[in-house]
Amino acid sequence: MPDVILGPDPKLFVTDIDNTLFDWVGYYVVAIRALLAEVEAIIGVPRAQLYSEARDVFTAHASIEFPFVVQELPSVIQYYGDDIDGMLKQVVDPARAAFLAAGATKLQPFADVVATLTELRRRCPRLPCIALTDAPRYVAMWKLNKLGLLPFFDAVYGLPDPRLPTHEKLARVKVDSEILLKHVSRHNFAFAGKVRILPDEYEKPGTRGLKTVLMDYELDEAPAEVRRTVVWVGDNRRKDVALGKRLGVFTAWAEYGIASAADIEALAEFSPLTNIEKNAEIAPQDLNGPRPDVTLSSFSEILRYIRPS
Ligand SMILES: [Mg+2]
Repeated sequence: MPDVILGPDPKLFVTDIDNTLFDWVGYYVVAIRALLAEVEAIIGVPRAQLYSEARDVFTAHASIEFPFVVQELPSVIQYYGDDIDGMLKQVVDPARAAFLAAGATKLQPFADVVATLTELRRRCPRLPCIALTDAPRYVAMWKLNKLGLLPFFDAVYGLPDPRLPTHEKLARVKVDSEILLKHVSRHNFAFAGKVRILPDEYEKPGTRGLKTVLMDYELDEAPAEVRRTVVWVGDNRRKDVALGKRLGVFTAWAEYGIASAADIEALAEFSPLTNIEKNAEIAPQDLNGPRPDVTLSSFSEILRYIRPS
């Protein structure tokens, strides 16, 4: 039997996305490898060189999920020069297609996520469900949409959208017009809920992201016992768990989301660890760090702690 059960009326359900709702690491390793393999095949620059260049691009954009990485690779820029249309058509499009095709096989929620969110909605129909992530807002919604999870949420909170790649001399944005339109129009994937873009400095483990969520639902100044009925789920102990404990919310650690060392190593081939940590927990852990209220060996276990309203 669980040792903690929340009362019949939890105030808010907030969850991280990557490695909490799906295996982001497994997905991203496969997708980026396919993307860079395609670039290699097209322009003939060896993979190791492209990995190293991708690393610099992800560093410059402070996100491993920068969607326009191909356009910014020095080898691609050098190969195409001022021929932006040629670059978009000959390498960016096929590389993107390779990324999508490879990623699609892995872009699935963990097996029990849909059933759990469905049950959560049934059990607590008035409970607002929020996604809070350090991924860029656009990318986060893109992923939730692909995962089929967007309709479960009332709001999505993410970091600022990616910067568009430009060719200064030609004063052109190096993005296909259809995709460009989605970005500049802040395409929201027909999402009916609320979308909030948090400043970069609100990145976890800072508390300002979750604090903003609490403020939006008028819970930031609620008494401790009320705040304790805010449920927060995340896979990263240094980030998610630490900030939950600092804010006094009911903090569940998604232990099942921890990536293998081999997968983290694979990511590190094309990204600095600081960027990877926006999406995944990196070992080693501080064993004296904050303890979660509960540890989940699957997402559905959160239901054990939430009584019907
Ligand atoms: Mg995560």
